[in-house]
Amino acid sequence: MTKNALKNTQNKAIPFLNLAAQQKRLAPRIYQRIEQVLTHCHFVMGPEVKELEARLAQWCGAEACVGVSSGTDALCLALMAEGIGQTNTNKTNTKKEAVFLPSFTYTATAEVPLLLGAMPVFVDIDPHTFQIDPVHLRARIHQIRREGVLQPRAIIGVDLFGQPAPWVELRAIAQEEDLFLLADCAQSFGATLDGHSLGREAVATTLSFFPSKPLGGYGDGGAILTDDPQRAALYRSLRTHGEGATRYEVLRIGMNARLDTLQAAVLLAKLELFHEELQRRESIACAYDHALAEIVRVPARVPNSRSAWAVYAILLNDRETRTALQTHLKTNTIATAIYYPMPLHQQPAYKPHHDGTALPVSENVASRILALPLHPDLTDEDVARVISTIKDFLCENRGAYA
Ligand SMILES: *Cc1c(COP(=O)(O)O)cnc(C)c1O
Repeated sequence: MTKNALKNTQNKAIPFLNLAAQQKRLAPRIYQRIEQVLTHCHFVMGPEVKELEARLAQWCGAEACVGVSSGTDALCLALMAEGIGQTNTNKTNTKKEAVFLPSFTYTATAEVPLLLGAMPVFVDIDPHTFQIDPVHLRARIHQIRREGVLQPRAIIGVDLFGQPAPWVELRAIAQEEDLFLLADCAQSFGATLDGHSLGREAVATTLSFFPSKPLGGYGDGGAILTDDPQRAALYRSLRTHGEGATRYEVLRIGMNARLDTLQAAVLLAKLELFHEELQRRESIACAYDHALAEIVRVPARVPNSRSAWAVYAILLNDRETRTALQTHLKTNTIATAIYYPMPLHQQPAYKPHHDGTALPVSENVASRILALPLHPDLTDEDVARVISTIKDFLCENRGAYA
């Protein structure tokens, strides 16, 4: 390589995600799939939707998969199917229902219970894995029962950043406390736990195919997985306006929340290479771990699992160091992101619904966390440059930020 060529690679911007590179790599498969849809013209509930549902169910070993319009709608349909939060049904108890979930997650997890007339109850996270803290969850459930204002009803476990939530503990708590357990796997499709794919850890599991997720479409999309045929039938009815055996028999109030045929077609094409992409994500994560573990807090791995690496996030000493490092990387044309700059219980939209319980770990992590670029189209050179740029900064500033 000439000096100039080397300089050019070094100056090439490293985007946080590179959907354009992925599109280039997958183009022939994707065009072929899209062309098939443009030929048969079944744009709504075309054959690709069924095909994708079968493939996703098979991937996870689940009995059923129902394709829906987004990860948010998947959460919504899954809670609607349990009758959670609905005040217009003939429920005997008049208490608002409590849905327990981590504060350190994407807004959708907490938005849905509120939209359905239930109350999100925020739980703190583990400082190492960033997953919901089962000890705090139990304490929150007991607190809510003691106070007697809300009726505990459900737990939403979130596989944050692509790693599994503590499912063994969550299942035990849900059973002891008689709560419905929902798995928000928007970030973790493709991850494994004890050698099996995530997707059957709870009564129902929701997926998102938002473009930035490990398996992303070219627009919004989602799915619900379940082993329960009755729930699967209910999800199918609810995603199409609560329809019955025929289109014009309306059994219940539902939504228009179907997965588009075109999105299913794109996802089918992407699924063919998803295994390879997951391997590439894992090897980039390992390279980051290996090079950075001595100078910065790298993500703690959940034992016996392999992450889908939706997000690879390091933890800096404090907010000031994070800002300085992010600026340094930006100056060197390396993009980073902050998931999440503020835990949900502090957000303006949720603060009025939060009971004021302190969630110190969520608040602390939000102030120090920084996500590095991680996607299958990063080259080894890109990864090396991210590493050396971080090392340069942290080693040079060790005195200043220690
Ligand atoms: C992305 C995401 C969602 C929402 O998925 P959409 O497809 O964007 O509606 C829900 N929960 C979590 C944890 C997410 O990351």
